[in-house]
Amino acid sequence: MSNFASTLIQWHGEHGRSGLPWQGQKDPYRVWLSEIMLQQTQVSTVKDRYIEFINRFPTVDDLANASADDVMALWAGLGYYTRARNLHTCAKIIVEKFAGKFPQQAEELCQLPGIGMSTAAAIASFCFGEKISILDANVKRLLARYYGVEQDIKKTTAHQDLWEKAQHIVPKQAVDMPIYTQALMDFGATVCTPKNPHCTSCVFQKKCIAFRENKVKDIPLRVKKATIKTVQSEMLFIVAKDHALFELRPAKGIWGGLWSFPESAWQDSPHQNIQPLQLSMDDFINLPKQLLKSSYAKARLLAPRKHVFTHRNLYFQIRILTIEQPLELPKDQFAWVKIDACEHLGLPTPIRQFIKDYLQI
Ligand code: SF4
Repeated sequence: MSNFASTLIQWHGEHGRSGLPWQGQKDPYRVWLSEIMLQQTQVSTVKDRYIEFINRFPTVDDLANASADDVMALWAGLGYYTRARNLHTCAKIIVEKFAGKFPQQAEELCQLPGIGMSTAAAIASFCFGEKISILDANVKRLLARYYGVEQDIKKTTAHQDLWEKAQHIVPKQAVDMPIYTQALMDFGATVCTPKNPHCTSCVFQKKCIAFRENKVKDIPLRVKKATIKTVQSEMLFIVAKDHALFELRPAKGIWGGLWSFPESAWQDSPHQNIQPLQLSMDDFINLPKQLLKSSYAKARLLAPRKHVFTHRNLYFQIRILTIEQPLELPKDQFAWVKIDACEHLGLPTPIRQFIKDYLQI
């Protein structure tokens, strides 16, 4: 076994994380689910949501047979909704094309929707003992520091270089792969952290090039992030008795595949001094303008609410329209749902929060 692998496995025996619900799993469905959930989401958030998901869909067949609405509703709040759509599509493929059994090789796994090479490697090494390294963001950072890789690790050449290095140090015995993979994950997440890594107590201190050359702060290279834009929109909360109107958002784009309120197009805004938008029913292209024109004019406009995305701040103002009866609208795009019973819908977090606030008024 490489020195790196044996040192890491030894470290894990004494200091690895424990108590995470997906640890020690050999079931590829569960490993896959945890890997997808952990992409761009904190462990503390994923813990409970993972258990909820497993309780609701204990097997890949259960997930494949679920409706898209049920899957999106369960995913709501975790963000990056393409993950949920891919999860659902991928489950169907595994059931239909692979008779419910996950392929065992990373090369095959990464052909499936939403499964990148690192996730494929995690499934193949944890569940099938394939001698292949993961290379998620934590592992890339650790190896970039350990080997002193000073280029931007997002660039293809540096990425390829790290893959080769990662592959070079995997244990020789397939039987060691699950523990090694878990140790890599734990070490990147708890010791070689992005800020203030624990170098003084690190088992790799003597070999780590970044530490030896006093470059830990400079590796990985920080590339300036794009500036955050501010955008504004208006949403219509159309209420008929105790029902509200929801519109299904297109599959691609922000909150894709979730139910939300009819919304105007996003407009760029100054970062400060957000002013109410001056809109009319003409800005809600999918709704019958004539039928709603007079209600719109009389509607109550609430103060803008803010929602923060990774690269954008959205200020959305909600206009509450009250009408006598639900309107007839295409059922594949719109739904009238009882306001206090819309929990089953996949709703974006700020819409869910607004409804909670509304019901408490
Ligand atoms: S010495 Fe510091 S930078 Fe190097 S591997 Fe250890 S924690 Fe990471």
